[in-house]
Amino acid sequence: MKYSAFTEDHHAARRAIRKFVDAEIAPHVEEWERQEYFPDWVFPRMGDLGFLSLRYPEEYGGAGGDYFMGLVLGEEMARCGAGGLPMAVAVQTDMATPPIMQFGTEEQKKKYLIPALRGRKVASLGITEPNAGSDVASIETRAVRDGDHWVINGRKIFITNGLRADFITLVAKTDPGLGYNGVSLFLVDRGTPGFTVTRKLKKLGMRSSDTAELLFEDCRVPGENLLGVENRGFHQIMWELQGERLIGAAGAVAAAQKTFEEALLYARARMQFGKPLVRFQVIAHRLAGMATELEAARALVYSTARKFAAGEYPVKEISMAKLVGGQVSHRISDAALQIYGGYGYMMEYGVQRAWRDSRLNRIGGGTDEIMKEVIAKTLGI
Ligand SMILES: Cc1cc2nc3c(=O)[nH]c(=O)nc-3n(C[C@H](O)[C@H](O)[C@H](O)COP(=O)(O)OP(=O)(O)OC[C@H]3O[C@@H](n4cnc5c(N)ncnc54)[C@H](O)[C@@H]3O)c2cc1C
Repeated sequence: MKYSAFTEDHHAARRAIRKFVDAEIAPHVEEWERQEYFPDWVFPRMGDLGFLSLRYPEEYGGAGGDYFMGLVLGEEMARCGAGGLPMAVAVQTDMATPPIMQFGTEEQKKKYLIPALRGRKVASLGITEPNAGSDVASIETRAVRDGDHWVINGRKIFITNGLRADFITLVAKTDPGLGYNGVSLFLVDRGTPGFTVTRKLKKLGMRSSDTAELLFEDCRVPGENLLGVENRGFHQIMWELQGERLIGAAGAVAAAQKTFEEALLYARARMQFGKPLVRFQVIAHRLAGMATELEAARALVYSTARKFAAGEYPVKEISMAKLVGGQVSHRISDAALQIYGGYGYMMEYGVQRAWRDSRLNRIGGGTDEIMKEVIAKTLGI
């Protein structure tokens, strides 16, 4: 279906990304999932094809596209057959780099943003800590000014791209007495003394993406690595989280759409009691319900994206889209697995991966419960 927000440019980008995903990504995801790592050539290749910079200005090597270009990328990557790589790409394009574009100096854009958009530097985003997940304001990682440097101490967990990232967009406390108003952002290079990757984490799903725990011990970074305004980091990152959540919702719905299409094909082909599964009304109704949920979730994502792209800050709708996208993707993959029966439980069928991967959509980037908290607040509750 065509939505008015998509122009011929968006359709052309969608076709190009789908062709790339079908030819160069999808045939390998099985292997990358097994290895729990995708190869390092993927980002430079995507950078060369211009896919990592679709919605960034031309002066930074981008294509100058709008927010919907990023959404198209998220949707098409989600169709590759595994959630891990699309998540890694989304961290690069929509989580770790937008704050540099928005708040960075020209030097920071030259050093970090441009190479990231070309796929030559891998980026990660460090918010979550062992003692601070949903409660971002309670982070304990501390940055203390020492002459013209900052000294960082703390620990980050669940960091996507954490193993391979060349730099991290790091959230740290600069004035613990000020709560939300005492948080700042920093750009920290891999290899900076005191910055170590302490372990690679084993995950239920999203396995081709690497997730790490990081440690900062008296890690000294130059003053110019402060990103944006000192003590405004919480507000800067909260703005960034909105765009991330919407792209995440779009990807979740797109991946669920693919899972649904495959389940429909399976139900047409699988014969039991002398007829294909789709001829059993309970299965037909299940598929009809799945198609309806997908359509409703996608409509909410698109209408919210239109507002966001037009410069509005629709926090309520973004939280709703993230909540619905995550829940629908989880329900669709579970319903699809049921349609596959015992085959769905076997590792040789992709639906088990969709089921495992989609579970994260209700946790990462803000849990269902936190989305409901935000929505409740916007309702004045
Ligand atoms: C695979 C993966 C990749 C990730 N990538 C990144 C990354 O790149 N960078 C990064 O910074 N983080 C990343 N995260 C972290 C992710 O955003 C957090 O896991 C998430 O925000 C939840 O935090 P938590 O895990 O500490 O759970 P907690 O905050 O401990 O929550 C536990 C449970 O309590 C509920 N809960 C908490 N507070 C409330 C409340 N006030 N009311 C009701 N219920 C509540 C939660 O909803 C949840 O169900 C990643 C996580 C995973 C699993």
